[in-house]
Amino acid sequence: MSSRAEVVVVGAGLAGLSAATRLSEAGIDVRVFEAGGHAGGRLATERIDGFVVDRGFQVLNTGYPRAADLDLDALEMGWFERGAVVRVDGTAHRVVDPRQRPTGVVGTATAPIGSLRDKAALAGFSLRAGYSPVGRLLAAQERTAEQALRRAGIGETALERFFRPFLAGVLLEDELATSSRYLDLLWRSFVRGGIGLPAAGMQAVGEQLAGRLGADRVLLHTCVRAIAPGTVVTDSGRWDTDAVVVATDPDTAARLLPDVEASAPRRVTTHFHVLPTSPWDAPLIVLGQPGGRLVNSVVLSDAQPRYSPDGRALVASSTLSPAREDEVRAEVAAAHGVAPSDLDHLTTVTVIGAQPTAVPPLQLRRPVDLGDGVYVCGDHRDTPSIQGAMASGARTARAVLRALRPSDDRRAS
Ligand SMILES: Cc1cc2nc3c(=O)[nH]c(=O)nc-3n(C[C@H](O)[C@H](O)[C@H](O)COP(=O)(O)OP(=O)(O)OC[C@H]3O[C@@H](n4cnc5c(N)ncnc54)[C@H](O)[C@@H]3O)c2cc1C
Repeated sequence: MSSRAEVVVVGAGLAGLSAATRLSEAGIDVRVFEAGGHAGGRLATERIDGFVVDRGFQVLNTGYPRAADLDLDALEMGWFERGAVVRVDGTAHRVVDPRQRPTGVVGTATAPIGSLRDKAALAGFSLRAGYSPVGRLLAAQERTAEQALRRAGIGETALERFFRPFLAGVLLEDELATSSRYLDLLWRSFVRGGIGLPAAGMQAVGEQLAGRLGADRVLLHTCVRAIAPGTVVTDSGRWDTDAVVVATDPDTAARLLPDVEASAPRRVTTHFHVLPTSPWDAPLIVLGQPGGRLVNSVVLSDAQPRYSPDGRALVASSTLSPAREDEVRAEVAAAHGVAPSDLDHLTTVTVIGAQPTAVPPLQLRRPVDLGDGVYVCGDHRDTPSIQGAMASGARTARAVLRALRPSDDRRAS
């Protein structure tokens, strides 16, 4: 016995859901099979003692072009300020975006992240990434992120105290070996947008997309074991289909599809603590210090008060190599200028396959149409990000529609 759907999407992460919503809007009968118990994939949230705890610290960046696909009002976003706190010799210095906080200019100008020339280089780098046409950014010679920053005139102090920890928290690697192409696109999104958290946690982003499909279209706890053109085998039976879209993590995609290469994944460990109150008066990310284990530490509930049930402060602190809570507690306390005994440990989460690597040479738009009605999407086809996942899903929906509904091609924008 087999069932039938016009298109089967394997995986309810943002890539699969972006593809499926577009196909559904174009009138395609689509089913999404998800091995896990929630929609959103790597955007996962649980409640612990009333706190909203994401599976690793991550944020939604409205500078991503595909953020336009989301209803941000419905997500009831809470926002971080643009910038970061840099601690040097125990003193906290704010490096803020003067466009958002003009009064922060003086503090930023005197922050110990290098000379005024360094700060001018930072501004120049931001202007170029934020406002040059994307085509020009992508046409530039590809380097590693570190080479690109040095070439842009960023000196040693700014690199070590600001860029390396800031970018390590986003790229999940601190050698800055990532492609300058991805760095340019990423920095562009920081210049053009804000970063924030939905009231119900990051999982709400995926749930919003899944909600557009309807519950009967997304089958949770349904693991796909094998794929062949026109057929998908799940734990609970076989499905016949005109097209199958594999929207899993890259390693699973490589297992299901011989033409797809596995990637070297980046991992991250996030420690969650509770403080009686926030020590800060503004929602800013505190950067880790050179030689320390933390890449960053942040009071999530300053940006999104709904992450806390009762006004206490929820703190997330991330390391690239797995660390026990007792190994980072003193550093977390120092980042926020509190005593270690003030911190109440809530939980620690390690995500092994948090993001695929994006080192040079970066192939920004990898093929999504593998032929014979088999397609693949996910952050490993574009950039290792929410933007990359959603853009690859949109691109895949266009390819499927071209095959199944040639005359409706324009409907999947
Ligand atoms: C801790 C952390 C921090 C991050 N920080 C940021 C950030 O700040 N900004 C940013 O832009 N990005 C960030 N990312 C990356 C971003 O979350 C991912 O790039 C994006 O969510 C990937 O989406 P995806 O749809 O490609 O894959 P996934 O979200 O991995 O979705 C794949 C889905 O396929 C399902 N699946 C797997 N195998 C099967 C099977 N056999 N059958 C059925 N279903 C299957 C999985 O359960 C999963 O739900 C972060 C990620 C993590 C983990």
